[in-house]
Amino acid sequence: MPEPLPLHSAELLAVGAELLVGETRDTNSGDLAGELTALGVEVLRLGALPDRLDVVSGALRDALTRAELVITTGGLGPTPDDLTREAIAAVCSETPAVDPELERWLRDLFARRGIRFAELNLKQAWLIPSASALPNANGTAPGWWVDRPDGRVVIALPGPPRELKAMWRDAVLPRLQARGLGADRAAETLRLTGIGESLIAELIGEEVLRRRNPEVATYARVDAVDVRVSATGDGTTSARELVDGAVATLLPVLGSYVFARGDEGWPEAIGRRVRGRTVAIAEVGTAGQLAGILGRMPWLHEARVLGARTPAARAHGTARAWAEAIRAEAGTDVGLALIARPRKGDLAVTVAVADGTRTTQLRTLAFLAGEQGRRRAANAACAELWARLGDGTRTRRRRA
Ligand code: AMP
Ligand code: MG
Repeated sequence: MPEPLPLHSAELLAVGAELLVGETRDTNSGDLAGELTALGVEVLRLGALPDRLDVVSGALRDALTRAELVITTGGLGPTPDDLTREAIAAVCSETPAVDPELERWLRDLFARRGIRFAELNLKQAWLIPSASALPNANGTAPGWWVDRPDGRVVIALPGPPRELKAMWRDAVLPRLQARGLGADRAAETLRLTGIGESLIAELIGEEVLRRRNPEVATYARVDAVDVRVSATGDGTTSARELVDGAVATLLPVLGSYVFARGDEGWPEAIGRRVRGRTVAIAEVGTAGQLAGILGRMPWLHEARVLGARTPAARAHGTARAWAEAIRAEAGTDVGLALIARPRKGDLAVTVAVADGTRTTQLRTLAFLAGEQGRRRAANAACAELWARLGDGTRTRRRRA
């Protein structure tokens, strides 16, 4: 056996005809890609494959020419269309045989459930000489860990996410970590509000955006535009130092737009600025979007949702008056009113915030009506609340 390769690259193959007809969404590959990336393993490709022996073995062979680690998900069931084991055996030129220990475990599982053991199930007790079994505590299909002669690794996991996740955590991850994997990788995400992706790109500059290490990339999300900085340690400078250096040069340019970092969103960003105060909200014409975003936060004491055509909404005064009224009626420190009205395919949005000292009102336009526009309107309200809870200075506001 040669010195084990540190596993730096991976490809993920999801096996199952149901994925190719859109009946089941491949969530496994994305979940595993996230795990591997966080461990510093570069994921080269994700693929979805039909239940066909030639296609799966061909894809495995190809993946093994590129990646040091190949993980398959699915195709480990007992029926003839589940043929991931056959495909791996073919690629390794080995013949599967029933493993007596796995067979005992499997027969015992059926006996305990009082189910007759169909001989088809024996397939789930198969191993090949270069495979060892990965125990499955939530199902009848053990996984496979296969060591290739060149040091590469193939891991086969069952398709059901519940089984896969437990196996990843309990059996795969510890073994991968013991073997050694990943490069020195680090990342940091800055979440921006009140500025669009193209303007951010302009502020960052093309040269920085083209650089590979550290890499700076922008992503438009539903609640913000993210600037993600990632790096690989280059032997002289650690990944963390490279990321911190890049973030330090970005902050003077972008800092006034940054409301959160990492995977935090508006609830956490606003929560940091609430500092013991309580909040009540009233929203008209947004189908409860704002309550949906902030509703689980303990400082939100009341959330009122009104349809745009209800008598109460029709009788309303200005957003300013609503904000002051909800604050008084709920007895909170801060009252916020959000009113959204359709205007030529977009939403005209008014947000008012009353804190007892002064009441401010902001008008903006949320691009598109419908679900998207309502979400943008709620984001605009979050941004306004966040700004008001801060030092009072508003970020420059453009179209939401
Ligand atoms: P299998 O191991 O191929 O028998 O898969 C069993 C079940 O797992 C399927 O019927 C799906 O419900 C689920 N499944 C399989 N592959 C995936 C995947 N890539 N992402 C999410 N669920 C999956
Ligand atoms: Mg299947």
